Amino acid sequence: MDLDESPLNQQTSSVELDERHYRALISASATFVWRCSSQGALTDVDRSWLELVGLKMDQARDLGWLSAVHPHDRDDYHREWIEALREGQPFEREYRLLCADGEVRWFLDRAIPIRQDDGQLVEWIGIGQEITAHKQAERDLERQRERYRTLVESTMAILWEGDPDTFQFTFVSGESQTLLGYTPQRWTQERDFWINHIHPEDRDWAPNFCAVATREGRQHTFDYRIIAADGSIVWLRDVVSVILDNGRPSKLVGVMIDITESKEAEQEARRLADRLYTTLESITDAFFTVDPDWRFTYVNGEAERLLQRCRADLLDKVLWEEIDGITETPIEQGIRRAAREHATVTLEEFYAPGEFWLEIHIYPSDEGLAVYFRDVSDRKRAEADVQFLALYDPLTQLPNRRLATDRLQHALASSHERGTFGAVAFLDVDDFKTLNDTLGHPTGDELLQKIASRLSEQTPESATVARFGGDEFLTVLPDLDSDFERAGTKAHTYGKEILDALNRPYRLNEHNHYATVSIGVTTFGEEHADTVHDILQRADLAMYRAKDEGRSSVRLFEPNMRVALSRRVALETELRQAIDRDEIVPYFQPLVDHAGTIIGAEALARWKSPLRGVVSPGEFIPVAEQTGMILPLGQAMLWQTCRQIAAWSCRDTFRSVERISVNISAHQFHQRDFVDQVRQALQECRADPGRLRLELTESFLLQDFEGTITKMNTLKTEGVTFSLDDFGTGYSSLAYLKRLPLDQIKIDQGFVRELRAGSHDAAIVEAIVLLANNLDLEVVAEGVENESIRDLLSAYGCHRHQGYWYSPPLPLDEFETYVTGVNATT
Ligand code: C2E
Ligand code: CA
Ligand code: CA
Repeated sequence: MDLDESPLNQQTSSVELDERHYRALISASATFVWRCSSQGALTDVDRSWLELVGLKMDQARDLGWLSAVHPHDRDDYHREWIEALREGQPFEREYRLLCADGEVRWFLDRAIPIRQDDGQLVEWIGIGQEITAHKQAERDLERQRERYRTLVESTMAILWEGDPDTFQFTFVSGESQTLLGYTPQRWTQERDFWINHIHPEDRDWAPNFCAVATREGRQHTFDYRIIAADGSIVWLRDVVSVILDNGRPSKLVGVMIDITESKEAEQEARRLADRLYTTLESITDAFFTVDPDWRFTYVNGEAERLLQRCRADLLDKVLWEEIDGITETPIEQGIRRAAREHATVTLEEFYAPGEFWLEIHIYPSDEGLAVYFRDVSDRKRAEADVQFLALYDPLTQLPNRRLATDRLQHALASSHERGTFGAVAFLDVDDFKTLNDTLGHPTGDELLQKIASRLSEQTPESATVARFGGDEFLTVLPDLDSDFERAGTKAHTYGKEILDALNRPYRLNEHNHYATVSIGVTTFGEEHADTVHDILQRADLAMYRAKDEGRSSVRLFEPNMRVALSRRVALETELRQAIDRDEIVPYFQPLVDHAGTIIGAEALARWKSPLRGVVSPGEFIPVAEQTGMILPLGQAMLWQTCRQIAAWSCRDTFRSVERISVNISAHQFHQRDFVDQVRQALQECRADPGRLRLELTESFLLQDFEGTITKMNTLKTEGVTFSLDDFGTGYSSLAYLKRLPLDQIKIDQGFVRELRAGSHDAAIVEAIVLLANNLDLEVVAEGVENESIRDLLSAYGCHRHQGYWYSPPLPLDEFETYVTGVNATT
């Protein structure tokens, strides 16, 4: 490489400096003159030379002087000198001289042939001049050049030099070949090589940018893409210096560095960030993140909306200082716990400043915490509504039958635990139906409210007063006494007291009315095997005895009242035989959607008894439950349902009937091998599991909740689906409902059968539909008995119906005819 081509031209000045230095030196260095014969033998030389090399004239004479020439140069010098002699031409030679002081010095010898007028060569005259300093400078320069060359060629960057006006390159380093596949020559020789190879998207701005900066004499750096020889895109960072001459740009020198990798990483990072941002912004949940110092690092749009704060104000600020209303609440505790224990925390809390309920999920990470939350007030309200409506009687505000039964269950357990006796009083208003019919429902309602409040006044705080049914009330008196007899007496006394209180006249519509009640009382706690069912039955029997005895009286239960129960015993024996004889058969009731399509059916057990005719499950299922016969009975129903699924799946007419449901009793479900029983039935009947739906009731959840979830999940993986039956009648389940892998809830027919717009039932149905939507569950109403109920349900958003209005449960052949008929017309 020629020095003139070096891009590092500031170095040129130091070379010039060396030249000047050299000239100064030369004037101070040794010069001598010598003479040779025409044949080239030294004849005379300056004394100073002889002293310099330490030779005598005799020794230097002829070719003796050659001994002073450095051995490396000696032979060549000799050869060239002989040649010059032969040709008779002027001679010039650089060489090293061995000096007497031990130094080696560089000299330049020049010899000129001296001729006579006739051209005859007579002798040679020579001048020797020391050039050591010059040689040194030359060597330094060469070394420096070498250094630049390796620097330029080994740098993993393209060094270049170019014209500031035309952008034509005057030099491009060899790295261009390695990096882009273009030889340096192409850059310097082809016109507009650079611009033509810039990526089309950068071609407009990049040269422009460079031109503007050059004009202003600014050093500049810019990133752009070049299309390499193999077609690939290479990102370059170009750092350009503008060399000025008299204030005008005279030259550009620059370095291009390959930044493709970091650009790609940067772009990938930006793409990821963009995607993350879009995701976080589009999720409907509110979301923010905080770093380990509780400072906000991210806040999404929904979080801005719920917190009523703008994200720009929150970012980098400390959570506890910015969000008020959470300090010292379970929300703060939850967030701190997630951070401390590095554990996921889920909360449902009321957020006072916003006056709504939040469901909050807190996830810890190395960068701090991610907090997702959303307003679940609708669901909470629906839950609370359903809970209240399900547990309390809205007319009297008293606990309803379900809550009363639950309280009785607890009282019974407490009696057994403490060895005390409690009692229940069962009240029925005498001739309430007549009063209701003659004075009208509003007056009837008012009377019930007045009875309720008198009853509550007469009853101790620790007791429960409940509205048990239309005109029935129940009071539960726990822990009356530790002595059985005394407890009985106290209970009887209490019965008389309330009888007196309730028999006093009632002021209704500014008139005095008289109403009487009949009361049955029974104690509990004496027998361990005692059940709520038994206790209620005893109280009921005692109450009927009181009625039989002329009303307005109190009766304490006596064992002989049990005789009536013997009828049930007979039923039990018969039922056992019925199961063995396959007298239990399924009837099918259609499940219809808003378009009238039959989308499913429920298998309902019937007992075809040769003695009793067709017995309804209301009579035999409770007996089967109490005696354990529900297990073989349930199995029989499951198998017959599976068999029917298999049979119908080959028939076109039944294609719309997506699922057949069958009722599963808690006892049956909680058997250890229940999952296998279902699998076996499905396999052996070759039934599609996706068409089997199991109907469970909330009573299931009272027992082994986690185990229930596991079993349900196992069956779900096989395709089986689940429905929660009689929804709205239970209460313990609401908190758990969202954890159950359910597909459907069936609104209990008790809320549906007499559905009227604006009624209490309507409120429940609406709340249930809201809850179901919230939990993403299908909702079905049972007990649809007429068109107006169907229309009301549809208006509330419940579009799947089951009920007499469509069809009662039908025996197999009639059901098949029914489906064929409906599907032929739709
Ligand atoms: P469920 O599961 O709630 O079944 C619905 C009941 O409502 C059926 O009574 C059905 O005939 C009745 N129903 C349907 N539409 C209407 C209507 O529009 N109005 C009225 N008033 N009632 C309607 P069914 O067949 O008497 O069954 C009563 C209960 O017996 C069932 O209630 C279920 O809890 C139980 N059950 C029936 N079959 C089985 C079974 O195979 N296994 C178990 N464990 N329980 C069963
Ligand atoms: Ca059912
Ligand atoms: Ca039901």
